[in-house]
Amino acid sequence: MNGPVHALIDIPAHLVDPLLAVVFPSACPSCGRLLTRLRQGPLCEPCWASLPRHRGVTCRCGLPLPAGISTCPRCRRARQPFSCGASLGPYEGSLRVVLHQLKYAGRRRAAGRLAEALLEQPAVRTLVATSDVLVPVPLHPRRLRERGFNQSALLAREIARRTGKGTCPDALRRRLDTVPQAGLSAAARRRNVRDAFAVHRKARVAGRTVVLVDDVLTTGATVLACARRLREAGAREVRLLTVARVV
Ligand SMILES: [Zn+2]
Ligand SMILES: [Zn+2]
Repeated sequence: MNGPVHALIDIPAHLVDPLLAVVFPSACPSCGRLLTRLRQGPLCEPCWASLPRHRGVTCRCGLPLPAGISTCPRCRRARQPFSCGASLGPYEGSLRVVLHQLKYAGRRRAAGRLAEALLEQPAVRTLVATSDVLVPVPLHPRRLRERGFNQSALLAREIARRTGKGTCPDALRRRLDTVPQAGLSAAARRRNVRDAFAVHRKARVAGRTVVLVDDVLTTGATVLACARRLREAGAREVRLLTVARVV
């Protein structure tokens, strides 16, 4: 019995995906077109080429602004722990789909394509080129065990690979946080988030310009908490880089 089962088992892992794509053609999870080319995915090429992007002016924190305004309300109100920020586009359409595929369907290869899309933007290239180290927002240890990978760490690694920068995936740690958020006051929630992170590798961030990498920026509570911790640990500057942003 030296049949096809053995043959399949001997195929190197990086060839299995393209092979399966031929045997079982799959549909683009965003638009439903059949994926035809090898190594394509999780989106079809037209969807990759038309990812939603921010248009027009953005605040220094990266938030898209209506015409005539140069600073967002939050940046105007208070001194932020980060110096600047950027993201590819709004968390909607195919960008939302591909981030879901990366996070919940384990389509890790999407991280490389997203890194490329981010680096096509001159502002992102400059933000990374003039920095010292990329630090991903850490996952809760239990979540990391369940998922098997941290999507932000994958993104940081793919950006670092393409820019010759270093990445420090364990610079920050997310502590076990058993206090439920429900029923807490806004101030208590902020405290809960703030205390959820700790700098684990101080020497890697002290005196350096750090790019904090995350997949999606929602309320900003998480990245703000991380940025504050990095600054407390002596980071000279913290910059935010996320793939998508809820706008
Ligand atoms: Zn598509
Ligand atoms: Zn702002």
